[in-house]
Parts: sequence; C-alpha cells; structure tokens
Amino acid sequence: MTASAATGAPGRVAAARMSTPVVAIIGRPNVGKSTFFNRVLGERRAVVHDRPGITRDRNTARAEWAGRAFVLVDTGGFLPAALEGRDAEVRRQAEIAIELADLVLFMVDAKSGLTDLDLAIGQSLRKRGVPALVVVNKVDRAGDPVVHEFHRLGLGAPIPVAAESGTGSGDLLDQLVARLPPPGAAEREPLGRVAIIGRPNVGKSSIVNALLGEPRMIVEPAAGTTMDAVDARWKTEVGELTLVDTAGIRRQAQYQDQPEFYATVRALHALERADVAGLVVDATAGFQRQEARLAQEALDAGCSVLLVYNKWDLIADRERAWKALTAERASRYPTLADLPATPISATARLHLGKLAPLLLKRVEEHRRRIPTPRLNEWLRQVQRRRAAPSTRLGRAPHIYYITQTCVGPPEFTLFVNAPSRLNDNYRRFLWRELAARFDFHGTPLRLRVRKSE
Ligand code: GDP
Repeated sequence: MTASAATGAPGRVAAARMSTPVVAIIGRPNVGKSTFFNRVLGERRAVVHDRPGITRDRNTARAEWAGRAFVLVDTGGFLPAALEGRDAEVRRQAEIAIELADLVLFMVDAKSGLTDLDLAIGQSLRKRGVPALVVVNKVDRAGDPVVHEFHRLGLGAPIPVAAESGTGSGDLLDQLVARLPPPGAAEREPLGRVAIIGRPNVGKSSIVNALLGEPRMIVEPAAGTTMDAVDARWKTEVGELTLVDTAGIRRQAQYQDQPEFYATVRALHALERADVAGLVVDATAGFQRQEARLAQEALDAGCSVLLVYNKWDLIADRERAWKALTAERASRYPTLADLPATPISATARLHLGKLAPLLLKRVEEHRRRIPTPRLNEWLRQVQRRRAAPSTRLGRAPHIYYITQTCVGPPEFTLFVNAPSRLNDNYRRFLWRELAARFDFHGTPLRLRVRKSE
C-alpha cells in the first residue's frame, strides 16, 4: 500500500489530472472505523518527499492499492465526541457520506451483531443505490457464522475483517478497488482548472456568483451520479479557466450545520479535479486551523494554492490588517507562510479583477518545466554551499544528477548512490532551496530520490 499524490513513474509526464474516487467509511460508533482507517495509513510507504507538512489530525488519506488511487475518508473522525452516541447524528453523518462518496464501506460489528441502526443505514444505502461494501469487523475466527447475519442488510456478501490485527484487509482492499468507478478519461483544458474551497460562510458562492453572474438556474445533479460536479467555464480577460464544481458550491447551503465534514469532503472532490485551489479565507476571522487543514489537503492533492482573503470591505485599516494577517499565518503555520495571498471583496466587488491573473500564475507554476541543465547547475551550486552530511558511519551520499520527472504538479528526481544516506534534514533543505531558486510559491513540489550507480 502506498499513499501519495505523485503516482507518476519517472519519465512519464502527467499532462492532465484525473479524478480520484472518494471512499467513505461509515457505521456506528466503536465498530472500528478509525482502526481500519489507521491500518490503511499504517501500511503507508513513503516514496515521495513532499513539502514539509504541518502536524495534522487526519480523517482523510490518499491511498493506492493494486495501482488504483482513491481517497479514504473516516466519517467517524469528524463527529464530535459529544455526539458520537446519538443515533440521529450517526444517521445524518451517514447520509452525507452516502451523498458524497463514490463508494461506501459500511462497517458493522461482529461482536454486537446486527442492530436497528445498522438496518436503517443499510436501507438508506439501498434506497440511494450507492455502491457499498458491508465490512464486518472484529471477526477474529475465520468462518465465524455471525458474518452471515449481515446478509440481511441486502447489500451483497459481507466481508469479514479484523481491523486490529489486519486480517482480511488485503481481500477487502481488492474488493474495494474492484468496485471503484472506472478511471475517467484524462481531462485536457486550454488553461487551468480552479477549485474554490473554504469553510462555510467565507463567501465562496458569493465569489462564484460575482465572477460568473448570478445563477438563473441551479443545475440539478444528473440521475445516477453521487457528486453533482458541474463545472463552469469562466471567461476572463487573460483567458478561459474552468471553475470546478460551482453547482456544488452554490448548493451547499443545505449542509451549513454540518460544516467541517461537508466542507472537507466537498473540497476533496473538487481538489482532485483541479490544478489550482482558490482557498477562501474570511479576512475578518483570519487563517485558522480549518484553513491550514484545507491548504494541506490542497497541497496533498497536488494543487497549487492561492489564498483569497474575502470580505476585505469590512476591514478598516487595510494596510495594517494585511501585515497582521500575514504575520499571524507565518507564526502559527510556518510551512504555509509562503502561500501567495490576495485580498478581495465579492459583494463590494473589490480587487475581483486581480483574481484571474493570480490564478493563472498558479496554473503556470503548476505546469512549469525546468530544463535539466539548469537543475544540475543549481544542484552543483547548492552542494558547494552545503554538502550532504555523512552518516554516523562516516559515509556521505553521492548525489549524481537531478531531473524533472513530472509536471502538474512538478516532480523532481534525484539520483543518489545510496538513498538511505540522504537524511530528511538535507532533503528538506534541498526542497526549500529548489522552491526558492526556481520561484515556486504555493505549488506542491515532489522530490523523489532514486538509487543509481
Ligand atoms: P459560502 O458558504 O462560503 O459559499 O459563503 P456565502 O457566499 O454564502 O457568503 C456567506 C455570507 O457572507 C453571506 O451573507 C454573504 O453575503 C457574505 N459575504 C460574502 N462575501 C462578502 C464580502 O466580500 N463582504 C461582505 N461584507 N460580506 C460578504
């Protein structure tokens, strides 16, 4: 199992992005959703060295099994502990997951058997026709007859697992990837695809409306699709961009009281289909934990990020406020300090004209290709300034060569005689230097290391 955004093999150029399906784990509290989720995370093998991340409590993970990538969401992780025990909350959570996911893992508990709440959730799943797998957790004995009880859910053959020990998870993951929607065709765009994300009430739909004009008609989701991902063409003075999932942004009002979960899953879906994220921040509230988390999700999904501080009309001393907002972000989230940012007001139509050129700049960075000779010249210089340190055994790694192996987002590969001798500190140093030298801001560069003789 690997979990990474950059699945491109060296030498292959990812010219366009494909949508990655979202798999949601649902079920009653304590059935073992988080254990299973962490199990998948635990099998993570870090193959790619990404932007030094911020510490985050994650309920979502990008994963890959048998060559298929998907995003796994633990819905239980979003439920505040106080609400965990309440059936109504669990059902609501399940409803939202059912609406948003491409595939649902409905987890039930062999120890407690089939409950009324399980039956109710099962019924919603059947009614909505969402692809689902029934996963019976805590089956410690192979062939335990209790598993058959869950046939009554009417969702096909229940799959026994023991998340704690990992028994059965390989089979489950095989079945999971078999049920994913077929990989979509690569989408090519003349310019770029932009996802407007942010938590509720920051002004996302106001921005979309200001940019595209008020909607005369809300587009209803096509029958049979779980995600009503209706994109909009946005004709700007500098060219045409695609705004991803604008219908969803405009329609989100019905979930205003389920803010974090809904915003995150919706954003995840949009990010998978975008090159650039316009992360909207309420300027009167500032860049908070949820913004940090969304920014990280965007970078993990391989999107370049532009921070859009909206409601700028409400700010009195703008020059001072901008300095304060920037300084606060830098001190609380140092790894996100260099994300490009711009103030606007959707309703007062302030600085709206700046958005398109700034977003296009992100698109350009996302697709930028640095010629190999320039990269290697940089590598020689940076090593002269600070050589890779030797290991405790006194052996320094030899870095022979660097080349760009992907665009959208850019991926660079270092060829090293002994990758294990190249420590994390030095990798991070190289990452930072590379970003600075080639002027990348807010683009998630990948730095791979490969063995070479
Ligand atoms: P969304 O949930 O992120 O889509 O946010 P909305 O677009 O629904 O906006 C939430 C609220 O903020 C609404 O009452 C908007 O009128 C208000 N709002 C949005 N943009 C601005 C702005 O630039 N300035 C001010 N003062 N209010 C805004």
